[in-house]
Amino acid sequence: MSFVDQVRIVEAELPEGVVFIAGDFTEFERARNERRPINWKAFCVVRAGKGAVMKLLLCAECTSFHSPPSQAMAWRSCDCGQAQVRWLDPVAGRLEVRAKSLEHTRVIGLHNGMLQAAFGPQRPLGDAGWRETHEVVCEHAQGYLFQAQRRNCWALIVAPHESGDVTWTPWDGTEAAAD
Ligand SMILES: [Zn+2]
Repeated sequence: MSFVDQVRIVEAELPEGVVFIAGDFTEFERARNERRPINWKAFCVVRAGKGAVMKLLLCAECTSFHSPPSQAMAWRSCDCGQAQVRWLDPVAGRLEVRAKSLEHTRVIGLHNGMLQAAFGPQRPLGDAGWRETHEVVCEHAQGYLFQAQRRNCWALIVAPHESGDVTWTPWDGTEAAAD
């Protein structure tokens, strides 16, 4: 059965309120062989709006990428120190960015469905598998810029003041301006 066929069956069987982003198809195949319902937790579904996006700080002055520390409210700097990033709420995906130069500071948002696919049971996916995964994650990214009708891309580049889930704080580079 192809990946796309599996995804169609999964969609038809999804419990209400659960959004499919990526799944462990070993559990899917096992459940079908044993003629039992899918264990949705084992199947690794991700609810919309929670943990669906990995965010990174990109500084164009030092061309470095940095993820915020997993602990909320702890800052991480880019290599040159002009920009910093932290989670205000890692579960809800709310980020704060402060920088001397808004012009040289961007946030990269990556869809976790694609990241999970890199570690999933079906790897290596091959070119066709990656294209299919990309199609599925973008198709199901309701409410996100990833969505097929919007950017149709698993990687987003936004200016810090352009995104609803990123708080932008102008910064002169001193710790005094911290909180
Ligand atoms: Zn920098």
